[in-house]
Parts: sequence; structure tokens; C-alpha cells
Amino acid sequence: MADLPPIRDVIKRHGLAASKALGQNFLLDEQLLARIAALPGDLTGTAVLEVGPGPGGLTRALLKAGALVTAIEMDRRCLPALAELSESFPGQLTVIEGDALKLDHGALMGGEPFHVLSNLPYNVGTALFVRWLSGESWPPQWQSLTLMFQREVADRIVASAGEDAYGRLAVLAQWRSAATMAMKVHRSAFTPPPKVMSAIVHVAPAAMPEGVSARMLERLTEAAFGQRRKMLRQSLKGVPGALAALASLGIDETRRAETVSVAEFVAIARALNP
Ligand code: SAM
Repeated sequence: MADLPPIRDVIKRHGLAASKALGQNFLLDEQLLARIAALPGDLTGTAVLEVGPGPGGLTRALLKAGALVTAIEMDRRCLPALAELSESFPGQLTVIEGDALKLDHGALMGGEPFHVLSNLPYNVGTALFVRWLSGESWPPQWQSLTLMFQREVADRIVASAGEDAYGRLAVLAQWRSAATMAMKVHRSAFTPPPKVMSAIVHVAPAAMPEGVSARMLERLTEAAFGQRRKMLRQSLKGVPGALAALASLGIDETRRAETVSVAEFVAIARALNP
């Protein structure tokens, strides 16, 4: 592996001024990037999908960790810097120019298992997160997700029942996965610094509870959290059989969605399974 110039120099040499429109806030601290790349565990010889590599700070940390990286980037300006990186790590980096929201990740990764690491703008990150965690087919092709979010979104992903941040995102992230807050990242770690603090969430798939449909669970949480301050007997009125299911499970219908645990939502969805 050749000696690499500091990422700050790469940004300067390739004229990669951060674009606000593309939600670009770059990480330059190599020690921090190495710690992020270590979060999924040993990546030697392992397939990794990185979404939004930008100038390649996290990418090079992943390559140094021995990962085989496929990176999707929609900003063409970053491609020459990424091509240089590819030359420094022969056979380890494939760069795909495109919009990660429009690509089939499983097919891109050749149908093989892979880990995901990403530092994305808020809207794109959340949309991809929901997509990676949805669907009836489980376990997914991805083996772990290590994703940077703004702190408030990370809080919503790992929240427990009874907490303010608890809602649909928490149930989605936790009913058949283990989701943890892996690292808090201060806004000053980014260039330019965003307005808000960030955090990295780590998600690993767990066993899917038997007899539960992902679509039914989604329907339930949509109804329940759509009116989160209302009692379940009101918010779940429109879901056929839901009130009877609450009664049979001994779940008080005067409770509110925000007090219903992930396990209880799973039990209600199971009771409603056709
Ligand atoms: N990974 C780099 C880092 O940590 O320094 C860059 C992070 S920057 C917050 C987000 C990157 O995602 C940018 O390079 C941006 O161009 C890219 N991006 C934004 N939306 C994207 C999309 N839909 N598909 C692929 N890349 C995207």
C-alpha cells in the first residue's frame, strides 16, 4: 500500500468544496475514521458496501482494514479521487457512480453477504435505513449496518418504549434486529461542521419472530403512532381485529402507542396474522 496524502490535501487537489445540495460534510480525522471502520468487527477480506464515499476518508479506513469495498457515489467530482484510492489498493475498491436510492444493492454485491457503512445526508440515510429494514424476507443479505445519522434520528432508532424518541423507527429497527448507539460524533469532527450533533448506529439482524408479517407490523405501528397521544382503542380502531387482539393479550386499550413495547407490538401483529 502506497503512503497516502492526508484527505484534506486530496480534497484541495481535486477541488472538492463541500456541496450543501448533496449534504456533504466530510470526516478528515484518520483516527476517528479508523475507529468507525472497526465498528462492524474484523473486515479482512469482507465485502463492504459504502454509500456516499465523497473524497474517500472512510473508504480508505475500510481499505486499510482489509475490506473489499463497493462504493456508490453520486457526485462525479469525487470520482478521480476515488480512482486514485482504487489504484493504491489494487483489487479492493469498486466505485459505482449513481444514486444509492435507485440501485439494487443486493444485485450490486453479487448476491453475496455484505456489511454496510455510510455517512449520508439525513434524508437519504433515513430512506435507505427504512428500505434495508423492511420487507418480509429475513435475514437480509446485509450482515450489519453502521450508519451515521443526526443524533436525534439515532435516538429514535435505539429508543425504548416510554421514551420521547420512541416510535415507528424504533420498532422497525428492533423487532428483528439489535440496534445500538455505537458512537456519538461531535459536529466539529466534520468539515464543514453541520448544525446538529451526529451519532453512529450499529444494527445487526436477529431472528425474525415466527408468525409475524412485516407488513402487518408496519400497518399497526403506522396506525398507533399516527395518533401517538391517543389511546390504543382510538388509534387502532381502523385495524380490523386489533382491539380484540389487545383484549386477548391482556394489553389495556387505554394505553398509548408510546408505552407499547416492541415485543407487545410483535405479539399484536402475530395475533392478527391471517
Ligand atoms: N463518506 C464521506 C465522509 O464521511 O467524509 C462523505 C460524507 S458526506 C456527508 C455524504 C456523501 O454522500 C457525499 O459525498 C454525497 O455526494 C453522497 N451522496 C448524497 N446522496 C447520495 C445518494 N443518493 N447516493 C449516493 N451518494 C450520495
